[in-house]
Amino acid sequence: MKKIFVLLLFLPILAFSQNEDSLFIKQMSDDIMLNGKAYEWLYHLTKKIGNRLTASTNFYKAIEWGKQTLQQTGADNVNLQTCNVVHWMRGKVDAVSVTSINNKNESIKLNAIALGNSLAGNANAQVIALKNFDELEKRKDEVRGKIVFFNYGFNQTYTETFRAYGESGKYRYFGPSRAAKYGAKGCLIRSLSGSTDNFPHTGMMKYNDSFPIIPCAALGLQDADKLWSLCQSNSITAGITTSGYYLKDTIAYNVIGELKGSTKANEIITIGGHLDSWDVGEGAHDDGAGIVQTIEVLRVLKAMHYIPKHTIRFVLFANEENGLAGGKKYAEEAVAKNEKHLFALESDAGGFTPRGFGFTMQDASLKKMQNWISLLLPYGCYKLEARGGGADINGLNEKLNVPVGELLPDSQRYFDVHHTNNDVFETVNKRELLLGAVNMAALIYLIDKYGL
Ligand SMILES: [Zn+2]
Repeated sequence: MKKIFVLLLFLPILAFSQNEDSLFIKQMSDDIMLNGKAYEWLYHLTKKIGNRLTASTNFYKAIEWGKQTLQQTGADNVNLQTCNVVHWMRGKVDAVSVTSINNKNESIKLNAIALGNSLAGNANAQVIALKNFDELEKRKDEVRGKIVFFNYGFNQTYTETFRAYGESGKYRYFGPSRAAKYGAKGCLIRSLSGSTDNFPHTGMMKYNDSFPIIPCAALGLQDADKLWSLCQSNSITAGITTSGYYLKDTIAYNVIGELKGSTKANEIITIGGHLDSWDVGEGAHDDGAGIVQTIEVLRVLKAMHYIPKHTIRFVLFANEENGLAGGKKYAEEAVAKNEKHLFALESDAGGFTPRGFGFTMQDASLKKMQNWISLLLPYGCYKLEARGGGADINGLNEKLNVPVGELLPDSQRYFDVHHTNNDVFETVNKRELLLGAVNMAALIYLIDKYGL
């Protein structure tokens, strides 16, 4: 009886604040959908600046643009946080071709791109086509002097394409050195994608210092299928030429805009994406989308005259793609300055229709947030789940146990464009992009208001 009375007492308050929250979120959503600038910012970032490989001229232009845009959008202050970054260059155009079939000269060019951070090299050798690392181990004695081709495909039965990416990622990252360990002269991988086109997908690889450095490249999926099928009943020789090299390490910057908190100014909520991209396409979905959504959240909070309790930091991270120096630096500084971080959110999964958020945090905090789902449902988010974070903010979680989360957009088309020449502005839909920002703004507002 008493319990019921207490419940009844609080119900109107609960209902009132839900109503107040849903009204405020609706206002933010209307403002973003009508007046949002994310799409025009993305146009500038992709078309006026272009792709933004760490340490490239474009990357520094993007840093300057990010700083100005955060200032113009009303950040209380904007700082550049210095970090040391690698300066990798792709060099001349990468080339892969089939050069002979059953000892008869051929010249079949394959759509290929050298893997990120790989070094220059030439190989012309017989191809051994393998399904996976297990097959490599079984046939390791046949590998010496050959080009290893890992044709590990995306698992098309997964609804979440990031799961398929996670599984096949090890072939791109470790494949070349795993092959070099057994004497391979070169390495080709099937691009990390489940698409139907023939764009090759680059991305980070890492040489193991114990084994020789060999040239390595990813093939477009149609050409991966072609090479695989040729290898089934023929002796195939292929040529690989790559030209990657490093210049001296240099410095770059995380761009950090702040909205000062009122009552809890020393507790920080971070929201961000990464400003760098690979040197192909325009880095529109990866991660121009996350960058402009981040600034859009600042814009709408200012437009609403919202004064946060906590300090909200809008961070455009440096060097996510080929070193993660920006994310590491941000976490290191947080530790060094003994900062208190309430939560960090990243958008780095494309500017597609939002479906939910994924989190790494304590169960109790997640349960609290799951009560907010009805406030997000009108804007397309239906799941708040225990899985996720972001490459740039995971350091905060690892070093300081900060709860982290990520926007989970629809993932069906992301790996069609990811790290390719096709990751361009035209593949981003304005409404989908803006809706992502709506949900990010709503989540940040709720966390600021109610804590975790
Ligand atoms: Zn990314």
